[in-house]
Amino acid sequence: MKTNSFFTVLLLLLTFTACQNNKDSKATLVVINARIWTGNTAQTWAEALAVRGDSLVFVGDTEGGKKWIDANTKVIDAQGKMVTPGFIDSHVHFLDGGFNLTSVQLRDAKTKAEFIKRIADFAKTVPAGTWITGGDWDHQNWGGELPQAAWVDSITPNNPLWLNRLDGHMSLANSAAMRLANISAQTSDIKGGEIIRDAQGKPTGVFKDNAMDYIYKVVADPPKEMKDRALVNAMQFVASKGVTSVQHMGTWDELATFRRAREQGTLTTRIYANVPLSTWARLRDEVATKGLGDKWLRIGGLKGFVDGSLGSHTAAMLAPFSDKPSDSGLFVTPLDSLFSFTLNADKNKLQVMVHAIGDKAIREQLTVFENVEKQNGRRDRRFRIEHAQHIHPQDIARFAMLKVIPSMQPYHAIDDGRWAEKVIGHERCRTTYAFKSLIDAGANLAFGSDWFVAPPTPLEGMYAAVTRRTLDDKNPNGWMPEQKITVEQALRAYTMGAAFASFEEKIKGSLEVGKLADFVILEKDLTNIAPETIRDVKVIATYVGGKAVFEAK
Ligand SMILES: [Zn+2]
Repeated sequence: MKTNSFFTVLLLLLTFTACQNNKDSKATLVVINARIWTGNTAQTWAEALAVRGDSLVFVGDTEGGKKWIDANTKVIDAQGKMVTPGFIDSHVHFLDGGFNLTSVQLRDAKTKAEFIKRIADFAKTVPAGTWITGGDWDHQNWGGELPQAAWVDSITPNNPLWLNRLDGHMSLANSAAMRLANISAQTSDIKGGEIIRDAQGKPTGVFKDNAMDYIYKVVADPPKEMKDRALVNAMQFVASKGVTSVQHMGTWDELATFRRAREQGTLTTRIYANVPLSTWARLRDEVATKGLGDKWLRIGGLKGFVDGSLGSHTAAMLAPFSDKPSDSGLFVTPLDSLFSFTLNADKNKLQVMVHAIGDKAIREQLTVFENVEKQNGRRDRRFRIEHAQHIHPQDIARFAMLKVIPSMQPYHAIDDGRWAEKVIGHERCRTTYAFKSLIDAGANLAFGSDWFVAPPTPLEGMYAAVTRRTLDDKNPNGWMPEQKITVEQALRAYTMGAAFASFEEKIKGSLEVGKLADFVILEKDLTNIAPETIRDVKVIATYVGGKAVFEAK
C-alpha cells in the first residue's frame, strides 16, 4: 500500500510539472486568417488553429490564434482559404492502388483498339516473364463487349497478363496466364464465380468473382521492396488529394507491409487495416496479444463479401436484371457462413463490415446483423455495409434502426449512373446510392472511394454526392437528383462520418482541441462556390499530425 501511494504522489507531481510546461510553451504551428470548417457542430466555423506536437491546442479566431505564436512557431497565413479536417477515405484497397499507379492505365481506354494499343505499349517496357497486372479497364466504354485473351496474346507473348475490370469483380487473363493456371475447356466452374467460355466451352480469358481465384493462385507475389514502394506511392498520392486517413480492405500480407512502415516510422497516412472476415479467429488472437494498434495503424476490423458487382452482373438482386432476365446475380459467400463468421467475430468484439451491392445482398446482410445482435446482445458494435448501392426502399430505415453504417462511394454513383438504368431499370435506380434517404432516415453515412476501383479523390466524391452529374455529362441536373446532398453533409461523411465508422471519432474527424492535427488547406471555400466546380478545387496542403505531407508547388 505504501509503495502504491508513493507512486501516486510521484505521478501527480509529474503530471503537474508536465501541465506547467505545456501551459508555458507555445504552438509549433499556427494557421490564421483561414475559413475553417471544423466539423464540430458546437463551433462549425473558425479562423485559426494552433498545433503542438501532433495535436490541436486551439481552434478559434485569429486574435486568439496569434497568442500561441512565439519565435519558434511556424505560422501560415491562409489568406481566407478553406481549411477542413483531413479527409478520411472509408474504403480503399491501398496497396493495389499504389501498384496500379505504375501499371498499364486502361480506365479511360474508350475503344477496343485503344485498349489493345495501351497494353502493347506497356508490354514493351516490362521484362520477359513478369506478370502484367492492374489495368482497371471498363468494357462499358466500348459498348459492353468483354475483352478476350485473343485480343492480347500476340502483343504479350512473353508475359502472363492478368488485368482487372475497374470494379475488381472480373479480370482478363491472356493465354500465357491461363497455361500457368492449367485452365482448359475441362476446367470446372466454381460457386460464386463464372468463367466466360466460347461456343466450344473453351475459356476466353475473362473470369468473374470466385472464379478469379484460379488465376490469382498463380500470379507471382511481388517482392517486399515492391510492396513497400507501392505503399509509399499510395501515401503520397492520397496526400495530394487531401486524404489523411484510410480504411483499408485487404489481406494479412498487406497488414505486414503496413507494419514494416509503422516500425520504421515512415507512415504518412493513418491506416485502419481490415482483414478477411473468414480469418476472424486469427484476428481475435492477434488483438489479444498485440492490441488494436495506435493512431497510425489500427486493426480490429473484418471485411467480408455477400455478392459481386452490378457492372459484372454479379450483384445479388431480388428481381432479375432488366437486360438479362435469366439472371439475378449471385452470392459470393453462403449466408450461413456469413452468419457464423459475423456471430463469432462479433462475440469477440471485432468490427464486421460486409460488401453488399444488390438489394437482395443488402437485405440478407442486414438480417444477418439483426440476428447476430439478437443473439449476442446490445453493444456499440458499428456493423457496416460496404457500398450499399442498390437498396430496396423498405430497407433504408433499417440502417438507422439497426445502427448499421452505410459505407459508400459517391464517385461510383456518377460512374454507374451512365448505364445502371440499362441493367436494373428506372424504378430500382431511384434508391440507388440513396445518400439523402439514408441521412434523412438517421443513418451514419461514411464516404470513401474504393480506390483502386475509383480515384481516391474526396473532392471528386463530394462533387458526385452534391451534383450527381454522371461522368458522361448527360445528367446536368443530377442523376436521380432527389438523392443529392449538401456540401456540408458530404464533408461530414468524409470526416466525422468516416471517423465514427472506425471507432476513431474521439481523435479525428473534426478540428477540436485535443484531437489530432490532421487537416487540409483548400484553394476555395467548398460551401461558397458553384457545386459543379467542387472537383476543380485545388488542394494547397495536407497536414497529418501537424506535419505537412503534401504542399502544392
Ligand atoms: Zn472495395
